[in-house]
Amino acid sequence: MNRLSDQQVEQIARELAGRLGRGTSPTLPASSPYGSAGGSAAPLPVFPVTSLPVGGDGVFETVDQCVAAARRAFNELAGMSLSKREEIIAAYRAAMREQGADLARQAWQETGLGRYEDKVIKNRLVTDKTPGTEALKPDATSGDHGLTLTEWAPFGVIGAITPTTNPTSTVICNTIGMVAAGNAVVFNAHPSARRSSLATVRALNAAAASVGAPPNLVTAVAQPTIESATQVMTHKGINLLVVTGGPGVVKAAMQSGKRAVCAGPGNPPAVVDETADLAKAGRDIVTGAGFDNNVICVDEKQCFVTAPAADKLLESMRAANAYIATQAEMRRLEKHIFSEIRGPRQHGTINKDLVGKNPEVILALIGVKVGPECRLIACEVAEDHPLVWSEQLMPVLPVVRVGNVARAIELARESEHGFGHSASMHSRDIDALSRMARVINTSIFVKNAPIVAGLGAGGEGFTSFTIASPTGEGLTTARSFSRQRRCVMVDHFRIV
Ligand code: NAD
Repeated sequence: MNRLSDQQVEQIARELAGRLGRGTSPTLPASSPYGSAGGSAAPLPVFPVTSLPVGGDGVFETVDQCVAAARRAFNELAGMSLSKREEIIAAYRAAMREQGADLARQAWQETGLGRYEDKVIKNRLVTDKTPGTEALKPDATSGDHGLTLTEWAPFGVIGAITPTTNPTSTVICNTIGMVAAGNAVVFNAHPSARRSSLATVRALNAAAASVGAPPNLVTAVAQPTIESATQVMTHKGINLLVVTGGPGVVKAAMQSGKRAVCAGPGNPPAVVDETADLAKAGRDIVTGAGFDNNVICVDEKQCFVTAPAADKLLESMRAANAYIATQAEMRRLEKHIFSEIRGPRQHGTINKDLVGKNPEVILALIGVKVGPECRLIACEVAEDHPLVWSEQLMPVLPVVRVGNVARAIELARESEHGFGHSASMHSRDIDALSRMARVINTSIFVKNAPIVAGLGAGGEGFTSFTIASPTGEGLTTARSFSRQRRCVMVDHFRIV
């Protein structure tokens, strides 16, 4: 697999950790035409509206056209060798290493969510650490009755629905995994991330064409809407659905009657107890919860800390460039964060205008001025505060002080809503760590690090930006987009 070198992984970890104390990332030059950290509520620079050429580069007006072009590409790819497929994946990676930063800029400008420099890191991560064909290791069993071989075959044409929060990263990640498995793809991007998603599809097709891949291996609907997503979900030419988004799209995919790989919402808790390295825990939580202004599904969304550790943790978060809001400030902030509060322990309706914005933009609404170095707003709240139970997708972290670690783990489990998505714990108590690992039952559980380490950013392992908890695939790879096929040779081909 084309992995990040140790040096590159260290670089990513340094960039994640190195933000602490700095306003802008080292990946964003001071003279950048794109300004410093993103997520401003001020009008964003307008991304030049290019007319969308239709048809030659994977982008088509209708779902029918996308499916037909992808089907042709799939049939052609089926006649090509595995090594050609590997050449195509290598071409995708090379192109995305070159163009990933520009596509990140386009995503940031178009959606107004998150931070440019964090989107650069996300694109680089999926480019280098999404597994390719190596995830398709065949399985062989031999015995007195011969040899049985199991291999991973493509489904055909996959319908992929992608989110606004990681638009370019999801298209890159899905393309590498799905084409590695021998499929072609029809993307229906989030309408708010249409241009940057289509630009990514075009760039991937151009890269593939340069090594002789069939045209339109990945296609995209030119004007994606919920209606076109519904057409993709019900089109008879689509063999598998892969959806990445909130509860609505997961429900729709599951009701479509097709096989669906569903990556849904999360509400990842972080638990901290008094045995933890509290200076590091505070830094890690600010890094994780502040990453891309908290729009990533794995970012820490609420924190439960034992009483003896609470003051030190909040102090270390402050030292790591979190703004610790007072209770009075929080009561004023709530009015901006929620457009509707539905009561204790209920998911409130989040004010979409603040999703993915920088802390200084959010705090300015209540007259508090902080500099661009501020990565996160944290505030101590009661356990039934709606922020604890809501996926806020903004850099505002509720912190709940609890009596003991058992209670912290129980509240973490409840506040995760059974999504089975992601969680973390900061502790040196191996009994408590083991208990949380069992109880929390998430696809990703990270100990003593930001949860993004579970995506391979500063932790070991491959990455995926489609973490399919509801349907059980977890971090998806080429294997998740494949069918198992078995071939049996009776009484022969065992060589021992
Ligand atoms: P969203 O659900 O609003 O949109 C996701 C995609 O689904 C978009 O393309 C949208 O057009 C489409 N869609 C939405 N409702 C639909 C419906 N009823 N029928 C057909 N298509 C529909 O989500 P978003 O705001 O783009 O992304 C944020 C959400 O996605 C968060 O909840 C986050 O946790 C989740 N997410 C999960 C993962 C994961 O890997 N599990 C990754 C990224 C984002």
